[in-house]
Amino acid sequence: RSCFHSDIFPSGTKAFINGAWVESHSGASFAVTNPATGATLASVPNCDVKDAEAAVVSARKAFQTWGFDTTAKERAALLQKWFNILMKRQDELAQILTAEQGKPLAEAKGEIAYGAGFFDWFAGEARRTYGQIVPAPVANRQHFHYREPSGVVAMITPWNFPTAMITRKTGAALAAGCTVVVKPAEDTPLSALALASTAKEAGIPDGVFNVVTAARQNTAAVGKLWCESPDVDVISFTGSTAVGKILLHQSADRVKRVCLELGGNAPLIVFPSADLDKAVAGTMASKFRGSGQTCVCVNRIFVHSSVYDAYLDKLKSAIVKDLKVGDGSQAGITQGPLINELAVKKVSGLVEDARKKGAKVIVGGARHSAGPSFYEPTLLADIKPQMDIANTEIFGPVAAVVKFDSEEQVIKLANNTRMGLAGYFFSQDVAQIFRVARRLEVGMVGVNEGVMSSAEAAFGGVKESGLGREGASQGMDEFTEWKYVCLGGL
Ligand code: ADP
Repeated sequence: RSCFHSDIFPSGTKAFINGAWVESHSGASFAVTNPATGATLASVPNCDVKDAEAAVVSARKAFQTWGFDTTAKERAALLQKWFNILMKRQDELAQILTAEQGKPLAEAKGEIAYGAGFFDWFAGEARRTYGQIVPAPVANRQHFHYREPSGVVAMITPWNFPTAMITRKTGAALAAGCTVVVKPAEDTPLSALALASTAKEAGIPDGVFNVVTAARQNTAAVGKLWCESPDVDVISFTGSTAVGKILLHQSADRVKRVCLELGGNAPLIVFPSADLDKAVAGTMASKFRGSGQTCVCVNRIFVHSSVYDAYLDKLKSAIVKDLKVGDGSQAGITQGPLINELAVKKVSGLVEDARKKGAKVIVGGARHSAGPSFYEPTLLADIKPQMDIANTEIFGPVAAVVKFDSEEQVIKLANNTRMGLAGYFFSQDVAQIFRVARRLEVGMVGVNEGVMSSAEAAFGGVKESGLGREGASQGMDEFTEWKYVCLGGL
């Protein structure tokens, strides 16, 4: 039933509950397709609430030992082993990722290394989950603060980083002593199942990491079950703001911890003192990675009037020279397909609206001949606030450029959104760098850098872009609870 005959999927592509490969209890399944070719890659179980409940039962049971009877050192050793296996299988895992997601093979390999890196990092953090002993206000007492694992974590993850969005959460959760149930995006379940397989290979105990695959029609019910279940302690979600809000509402009655990594609307500002080559390189990396389908992708480009024409010229040349569109599994391709045709339709609608309202199309501006899921890398200039593209997360390979005249004006423009994930700017003026970095209403700022994610960095947003941070030592906060123990009568 699967076209992946490697030992990654020893019993076909099934869900993974309590250390076993299982069909959905109803026997239903759904197809996974390659967005570059439309070919069917595999079919996976279409799990429903009953299967999702079984996964929670297994995670709850495993938590009793993983959370209380293993040492941080033991958990760290297992995470390190899992990291080593992912790196050993990097090529194989990248091929699976590219086949179901579309991103170029080189980017997929990069994602496997980036994703695996969270296991390496959190293996270290596991052993540094320090508590505190605080001087008590009275003589005969000791005040201890312990950090305890939160319990069972339910994760719902997106298709744009099918591996790394699971490992970034799971590394921290497992390090803390939590156990995990994951519902991967319906477009990219194979990468999640490949993680399950490598977890087993690494010796992660049964029930500690479970993967429940589900088609879109079963997804809302699974999400609701996990939000409302008293046996799930944390909801950790990466995806659209609309769905994040649903999960937050649904979790309110249980007063559940909810960690959200939601949409962005990242500004990129080019100030007069900027090194234009660096600004263009940063724009290219941030805008066109994953064909523009990352939540930290630059969405609005603001360029000072004094360097506007020069920047546009350089960006145009880079787009024409450096980007090659096609099937991501082929050598030399830098731009794969968008995740599906619907995504192309959305991008194409935004470009048409901008064009009608006076935007200048400098490069691209149309669907690409490689297939129905492809769109040409596009550069639009003279973007105005009334255009839809100025106010929408584009999630596609379209650079939309706005001209500005003063720092004060551009900060207002940049902050004029309810999103606040990443922001970027290019400047060589030291005072301006500190000023603007503080005033941008975002969780992450790249100064003279277009790509800034790493296991060592705290990833997350403000405003409606999310709650909490992932990666870095802050990533442990999401999956631990402080417990205060007052020892009296001393
Ligand atoms: P996108 O638009 O990029 O697909 P979504 O937020 O819709 O982003 O998807 C991110 C994840 O959320 C996916 O795993 C998807 O299946 C899941 N999802 C979508 N709708 C819901 C819902 N109502 N409840 C829970 N999860 C959902």
